[in-house]
Amino acid sequence: MNSAQMRAFLQGFTDRIQAHAQELTDLDAAIGDADHGTNMQRGLSAVMAALPAEGDPAALLKSAAMTMISRVGGASGPLYGTAFLRAATAKAGREEWTITDLRAALEAAYGGLLERGKAQPGDKTMLDAWRPALDALAAGTPADAAQAARAGADATRLLVARKGRASYLGERSVGHLDPGAVSSALMFEALAQALQE
Ligand code: ADP
Ligand code: MG
Ligand code: MG
Repeated sequence: MNSAQMRAFLQGFTDRIQAHAQELTDLDAAIGDADHGTNMQRGLSAVMAALPAEGDPAALLKSAAMTMISRVGGASGPLYGTAFLRAATAKAGREEWTITDLRAALEAAYGGLLERGKAQPGDKTMLDAWRPALDALAAGTPADAAQAARAGADATRLLVARKGRASYLGERSVGHLDPGAVSSALMFEALAQALQE
């Protein structure tokens, strides 16, 4: 993954969030506070506006991280921001990431999600897209990771929320997709697409 591909990833994630903002907000309306689409949209358009013209992949990702942390009020901004920051820190100064670098960067990102959110897979959060995606990537490609993230997001329908606002609903959260898991599937799809080009 080079700088152009990191930029294409961030742009692709932004475009996908834009296209699915209403859907994400509707999902959050069912089990949260109806702002996940707008939170992500606001955060990512600020990310693209602040993205430096130059820099290695980690420098671009670090800029995106800082913007997500400072510009998104909801739980999702600090979570995505922490994930991006951990990945950037793990690969600082590297001009081109191999697939091994990418796997390590994403595992570092996932570690940041665990620490920041104190959730576990099965709690009906974005982790339920991330964990299967990283398991698929360990022996496969970014396209495999994207497929696993989507399957993981779809499977959140059956889960009881144990973290975040949706946990206030308890059993009543069953039957609805977790919005952050769905936005994470969009993220892994953007990553796969950026790395195909
Ligand atoms: P808020 O809940 O503050 O309104 P958003 O609606 O933008 O923030 O984001 C909600 C999403 O954040 C959830 O769908 C879930 O995926 C994720 N989330 C919330 N709390 C946690 C947590 N503790 N760990 C991991 N992900 C979480
Ligand atoms: Mg919300
Ligand atoms: Mg909110």
